[in-house]
Amino acid sequence: MLIDSYDRVVDYLRVSVTERCNFRCQYCMPEKPFSWVPKENILSFEELFEFMKIAIDEGVKKIRITGGEPLLRERLDVFIKMIYDYEPSIDLAMTTNAYLLKGTAQRLKDAGLQRINVSIDTLKPDVAMRIAQKDVLKNVLEGVNEALKVGLKVKVNMVPMYGMNADEIIDVLEYSKERGMSIRFIEYMENQYADKSISGLKSEKLLEILSAKYEFEDEGFDGSSPSHYFRMKDGYRFGIIEPYEDDFCKKCNRIRLTAEGQLIPCLYFDEAMSIAESIKKGDIKGAAAVLKEVIRTKPEKNRWGGDDAEMSSRAFYETGG
Ligand code: SAM
Ligand code: SF4
Repeated sequence: MLIDSYDRVVDYLRVSVTERCNFRCQYCMPEKPFSWVPKENILSFEELFEFMKIAIDEGVKKIRITGGEPLLRERLDVFIKMIYDYEPSIDLAMTTNAYLLKGTAQRLKDAGLQRINVSIDTLKPDVAMRIAQKDVLKNVLEGVNEALKVGLKVKVNMVPMYGMNADEIIDVLEYSKERGMSIRFIEYMENQYADKSISGLKSEKLLEILSAKYEFEDEGFDGSSPSHYFRMKDGYRFGIIEPYEDDFCKKCNRIRLTAEGQLIPCLYFDEAMSIAESIKKGDIKGAAAVLKEVIRTKPEKNRWGGDDAEMSSRAFYETGG
């Protein structure tokens, strides 16, 4: 079992298989980075899998594939099958912008993927065009339909922003609810790469908007999920991720691996250690030692809120959110 210095059990590994993306979301990657990680530095699926086996053997029970846009990486279904075949009981999920899901959902499901989180910030084509800087909405919604059709469980992520999609909070919730998908509103998290003009809605404002239409109860936190949950009278549950509160750090159970093998103990901070060299040499003990050191040095909490708040210099497209 992996236990950090604050007695938190770490059993969740998020793996970003590429930092590249086919969208340019204003809050994540409004401009193409000055330089991508060179292709030769990207770990192969076999190399990523070597590390994931170590993590699973040490107690990781949940794996999420993310990016950048994970579906840009070829043979993703083969990678998913490698993980599933090694440990079928792993809770195996993916976060995607859904643009390329239409032709791939069935193969991903057959490979062992159980759940996906899709980013739906708007149901208006022109707003989607403004946020992602590309005409994406038709493909995204077709991708979501396909995922539901093949039987993947789908959760929706929405980042509500003033002057952009704040007037669609109810519409996106209703769209999700009608299709049996739960929704999580993610407070916009400031970072050095995002468009500086963005202003995100905080949970207080979100709850004000939602309570004008619905009655719901505060259910608090559930397990180690960072979501603060609320349940409506008809049983539908929605979540809000509130990084400007410290609460979700108290139960944080996750670490992140980037496509080039950087193992990151916290989404907010720059600190990371590489497993690439050990994995490339076949040094399993060395990679396991890096994993343990990263767990040992996992910080107590992020710094989005509080008096010592600073701008995070971690790119979401690199860590996978
Ligand atoms: N490309 C995939 C997608 O968009 O779902 C996966 C990677 S993306 C980095 C993962 C999640 O991070 C998305 O739900 C996205 O909305 C969220 N995200 C990105 N930048 C963010 C920011 N600055 N604040 C809050 N959420 C952010
Ligand atoms: Fe790409 Fe996802 Fe970032 Fe948007 S949020 S730019 S889709 S990685």
